[in-house]
Amino acid sequence: MSEAMPGLPGPRPDPTSEGYWLAAGRGALVVQRCAACGVDRHPPTEVCYACGSLDWSWEPHSGLATVYSYTWVERPIHPGLAALGSYNTTVVELDGTNGVVRILSRITDLEREELVVGLPVEVHFDPAGDGVALPVFRPQRGVPAA
Ligand SMILES: [Zn+2]
Repeated sequence: MSEAMPGLPGPRPDPTSEGYWLAAGRGALVVQRCAACGVDRHPPTEVCYACGSLDWSWEPHSGLATVYSYTWVERPIHPGLAALGSYNTTVVELDGTNGVVRILSRITDLEREELVVGLPVEVHFDPAGDGVALPVFRPQRGVPAA
């Protein structure tokens, strides 16, 4: 259960994804990196989609990213999201990864007209119970959109 949004189901970590969720619960963003070819990937998968290797590790990430795409949701798809009113669903592209890594998330702490493609954002974490959290993003203040 989400602590930040009561009634909203939290993530359900599995053996492949639990490192991602538990790191977020500790306030850290990590990306899954293939030990064979070095490509970063998300969402976490057991097999590297670049080379087929089963060997991987979690690598810390700065949490800096750029808005790749977004939409505003006017009717919440779950009652647990109703408290947000209208909210955005946003794809961010992480900065500095080996290969393109995009995360489906939400941008907080901004006015609707401020959300644009290319906006520099930084991660923060929305507690979701049981030691896990949802990585969400907010604008990097003072950094203009690309
Ligand atoms: Zn690989």
